[in-house]
Amino acid sequence: MIKENLEYISSTIPDHVTLVAVSKTKPEEMLLEAYEAGQRVFGENRVQELVTKEANLPKDIEWHMIGHLQSKKVKSIAPFVSLIHGVDSFKLLKEINKQAAKNNRTIRCLLQFHIAEESTKFGFSLEEVKKLLSSDEMQTLNNVTICGVMGMATFTSDQRQVREEFRALKQYFNAIKSTFFAQESEFNIISMGMSGDYEIAISEGSTMVRVGSSIFGARG
Ligand SMILES: *Cc1c(COP(=O)(O)O)cnc(C)c1O
Repeated sequence: MIKENLEYISSTIPDHVTLVAVSKTKPEEMLLEAYEAGQRVFGENRVQELVTKEANLPKDIEWHMIGHLQSKKVKSIAPFVSLIHGVDSFKLLKEINKQAAKNNRTIRCLLQFHIAEESTKFGFSLEEVKKLLSSDEMQTLNNVTICGVMGMATFTSDQRQVREEFRALKQYFNAIKSTFFAQESEFNIISMGMSGDYEIAISEGSTMVRVGSSIFGARG
C-alpha cells in the first residue's frame, strides 16, 4: 500500500511542494518500500532512530529532523542531516552551528513558530525571531543557513482555526523574508501540514508538507 499511498498524495500536491515522508516508529523495510517507489526525503523525530536508519538505509536519502531537538543531541546528526525543522531556541541554533563547523559543513535550518493554541507545542513568537535575527551574535553563525519557517497547527477538527494558524505562519514568513532575507533565495521554505491538514496548509502557502500516517499507516 505504501507505493499507492505515495502516488495518491503526490497527485494531490503541486510540484513546488516538497513531500517529507514521516517515517518515525516505522521499520526500515517500510522506508525501503517508499524509497523503491521513488521517495527520497524522510523525516524522523528521534535522534537515535534517525542515526540508526541513516546508517542502514541508502545514502542518497535526504534526512530531515522534524521533532523537538535537544542541544546535547545535535552532535550525532550533524554529519548528515539535511534539514532541521524544529529550531526553537538560540541556544539550539548556536549548537547546530558549532557542530556543523566541526563537520566542515553548513546545516540548513527552519525556525519553528508557536502557532497552535496548545501551550505544549514548541516554538518562537515573531518578536523573539526578530530579536534573534537582529542580534550581533547571529551574524557570527556561518555554518547554519536559515531556510524558512515551520509550524504545527492545533490538533482540532475546526478547520477554520487550523487555516488561520497556517495563515499566521505564512505572514510570519513574509515578514521575516522582507526584513532579513529579501536577497536570500534559499530562504524559501514554509514547512506546514501533516496527514490531517496538509491540503489546507498548501492552500495557505505551504511549500513543504510532513506526512506520516497517510503514507505508512497509523502509528501504534
Ligand atoms: C509525526 C509528525 C508529523 C506527521 O504526522 P502524521 O499525522 O502522521 O502525518 C509531522 N510533523 C511532525 C513534527 C511530527 O512529529
